[in-house]
Amino acid sequence: MTVKLIDGKKLAEKVRNRLKKEVLTLKKTPKLTVILVGDNPASQIYVKNKAKYAQEIGIKSEVIRLCSDITQEKLLKIIKKLNKDKKVNGILVQLPLPRHINEFDVINAINPEKDVDGFTIYNKGLLSVGKPSLVPCTPLGIMEMLKEYKVKLSGSLAVVIGRSNIVGKPMAQLLTLNDATVIQCHSKTKNLKDITSKADIVISAVGKRKLVTEKHIKQGAVVIDVAMIRDEKNKKWIGDVDFEKVSKKTSLITPVPGGVGPMTIAMLLQNTITAYRKQNKK
Ligand code: NAP
Repeated sequence: MTVKLIDGKKLAEKVRNRLKKEVLTLKKTPKLTVILVGDNPASQIYVKNKAKYAQEIGIKSEVIRLCSDITQEKLLKIIKKLNKDKKVNGILVQLPLPRHINEFDVINAINPEKDVDGFTIYNKGLLSVGKPSLVPCTPLGIMEMLKEYKVKLSGSLAVVIGRSNIVGKPMAQLLTLNDATVIQCHSKTKNLKDITSKADIVISAVGKRKLVTEKHIKQGAVVIDVAMIRDEKNKKWIGDVDFEKVSKKTSLITPVPGGVGPMTIAMLLQNTITAYRKQNKK
């Protein structure tokens, strides 16, 4: 049986082409400002890619690089200035931040209208009351994938493994909003296999190799693997799902890499345009 893959790379390219055309119709050029504190190698790559893809579709991008010993006060001042800057439509603070800085306070200093990551409590609150505005990019990208591949959500049983604020929680909320019946699992969940093996859709966002095996999945299910785990021995990226075995049972499955990852960046670009529109409609 051939594996039916959800091609995140191809879909992300399609989304970027759509956004590129959309940018041309706008009166001004949207601008995304990314703040990078310190020199975490993974963060540097993420930020470089975000800026590269933004420019590619015609969004102006700026990266503000700050030393890891910057004080929280100085960082908050920079955010306040960006909040007031009419030329800046999107502000993203790359996480993680150094330990002496309070992530919650910094993220919530961002004007919610410019919060292109959708991490402020204001935007999270809107999602939780069923009025999504700027939504976290990874779950938003997954919803786009499910739509593109015509996965039926209404009445389906979806299991989300993971309950983080940036992936698991908003993922479960978006699925519920789209009429799926959702079960959220986490590290204290008992008998994970008994729960996931009943699901029509399983979305795993944990970061544990081979957490999801063929025993966890029912025949014909749709499986989305969010995790990005670096396998240093084999110099490659892997996910939570034992792809080789699980893909023999699924109707659709995402690969790692080339699944959820590319869609996350595409949704950041989409959110920047959404933010621009919100700021320019008044
Ligand atoms: P996180 O904040 O570490 O959350 C992990 C979640 O997994 C927690 O809710 C935790 O439960 C749960 N968990 C841990 N062990 C478990 C187990 N044995 N069974 C069931 N649940 C378990 O991670 P995250 O930020 O959500 O990211 C998750 C993964 O996705 C990581 O590999 C990350 O690199 C990847 N990711 C990828 C993208 C992308 O664009 N592809 C974007 C974001 C994240 P508790 O709450 O009980 O601790």
